[in-house]
Amino acid sequence: MCGIVGYIGNREAYPILIKGLQRLEYRGYDSAGVAMIDKNGSLNVFKKKGKVAELVAFAKENNTSGNIGVGHTRWATHGEPNDVNSHPHYSQSKNLVMIHNGIIENYAAIKENLIKRGHNFLSQTDTEVLVHLIEEIQLHEKCKLSVAVQTALNQIIGAYAIVVLDKNDPNVLVAAKKGSPMVIGIGEDDFFIASDASPIIEYTKNVVYLEDEQVASLRRGEQLKIRNLKDKEITPFIQELTLELESIEKGGYDHFMLKEIYEQPRSVLDSMRGRLNASTGEIKLGGVEDHRKKFEKAKRIIFVACGTSWHACLVGEYLFEEMGRIPVEVEYASEFRYRNPVIYEDDIVIAISQSGETADTLAAIELAKSKGALVLGICNVVGSTIARATHGGSYTHAGPEIGVASTKAFTAQITVLTLMALELAKVRGTLAESRFRQLLYEVEAIPTKIEEVLKLNDKIKEIAYQYKDSTNALYLGRGVSFPVALEGALKLKEISYIHAEGYPAAEMKHGPIALIDDEMPVFVIATKGANYEKVVSNIQEVKARKGKIIAVVTAGDKDVKKVADYAIEIPETDELLVPLVAVVPWQLLSYHIAVMRGCNVDQPRNLAKSVTVE
Ligand code: GLU
Repeated sequence: MCGIVGYIGNREAYPILIKGLQRLEYRGYDSAGVAMIDKNGSLNVFKKKGKVAELVAFAKENNTSGNIGVGHTRWATHGEPNDVNSHPHYSQSKNLVMIHNGIIENYAAIKENLIKRGHNFLSQTDTEVLVHLIEEIQLHEKCKLSVAVQTALNQIIGAYAIVVLDKNDPNVLVAAKKGSPMVIGIGEDDFFIASDASPIIEYTKNVVYLEDEQVASLRRGEQLKIRNLKDKEITPFIQELTLELESIEKGGYDHFMLKEIYEQPRSVLDSMRGRLNASTGEIKLGGVEDHRKKFEKAKRIIFVACGTSWHACLVGEYLFEEMGRIPVEVEYASEFRYRNPVIYEDDIVIAISQSGETADTLAAIELAKSKGALVLGICNVVGSTIARATHGGSYTHAGPEIGVASTKAFTAQITVLTLMALELAKVRGTLAESRFRQLLYEVEAIPTKIEEVLKLNDKIKEIAYQYKDSTNALYLGRGVSFPVALEGALKLKEISYIHAEGYPAAEMKHGPIALIDDEMPVFVIATKGANYEKVVSNIQEVKARKGKIIAVVTAGDKDVKKVADYAIEIPETDELLVPLVAVVPWQLLSYHIAVMRGCNVDQPRNLAKSVTVE
């Protein structure tokens, strides 16, 4: 959450900061701010509630010059989103400014102390307390800024990625992180810093991912210097970015979400590339392969995740139990971490997170590791904290996902889970060879089937138009399609603000059926398979109460089509793989409804991508 960007070099900082903030805006967007030091040494700060565009309008006509600066786009945790609480924040003397991503948990006690020593605070944020503390130490100890940052951070409990700018030393940016991501770009004679690589990619491919509890000094004309909080010097590990600029731009689509929905044939293929070969019957997933013995012996798999990734885990539960015949539990990371869960050494814990930075999931990983379990990660962002914190795992390789509502990450996660389940079945000998082979072919065909579904966009848009003014919606599914109902409801809620619930179709009669009237759209997955007849009966129950039925059915279906108000025909696929194809109509539907309602699809209110706070 929240985007951080910084620049020091010979170019004008402001345009680089603004462009960077626009790229990072998906991470938080309730306010934005920048600070630059101009060539006369004056420190100019501009900050504004609202989007980056509002900041740009506000700063226009003002002095934004300077070749050192920092920028921030906020996702408020402490203090409402307003101009004053926006970052950057000043120190007491106003010589330092700081931007921050995360939460300083012990800010209240520190603030109280500083107030006793005469400090005045302008905002309600935890951030302002930290920059005051840094300056207090800097003045008291008469030390370098980087040392003051080190000392201050040794007193801090919480998560942070910070960048500090000092008016008295306009040749250095000091940055540090713990729990929140931070990447430093190394140019020819300049440095860039950001929460992810997207603001950096067009200037340099050489980057250093800062590790937890490291403090970096980016000094003009010098090499990057890193020390940890124990004052040990760290040699920077320079990596080459593989990210391409096109992958983080809209490429002709109106929104990132639509682009990402349309990318799914490709991203699903990328998730299986080099891992599956149906004609030779091979499947090879590093995450499982490297821990073969553990998988052979494991008594239980525990999935931990949040949000859409948690829905992917529910699909994983069906797949692992059905194919690998192993008991599975699916846990919300935020609940798991604060319980005292029973975890055995022969359990395998699999954590899923698109960003690889989700704070609750990370904490659940640490807990599982402390109990001796093997912990694997399924992440999209290469090199992310979760990827590094786990014993192993598999990347989804879906490419950057920028729309806040997750789409291609979900299908990529399910693809990886399907491959894992298949490999698990092979290791444990739980699937007949013929069934195994058949599934491999079916998996290989999924990208083409998703392509077919995308061709139904116009029809789905028409359905969206019919139901765009609904106030409530129900999503139903059974078996492996139940998590798709949850995901469909979540997509609608998060971007169009229509209240929606996902239910197992048969559970409807235990409560939600009371809500059904002729205004209520009920979105059902009723594809061919073991539960088909049962779902058809559930549909009849809705119709008997005058509810509207919009059903995803298998191509050629007759029964549901007779009763449904709308039927969306998707290509036939193996029952276990239906979620990969059936979720796409629900993604498109939410997208169109949100656009028709005038909602900000890529940046829905109150949400942010990459939830790095608890
Ligand atoms: N805790 C800080 C605030 O509320 C930073 C939040 C963020 O990561 O944007 O301002």
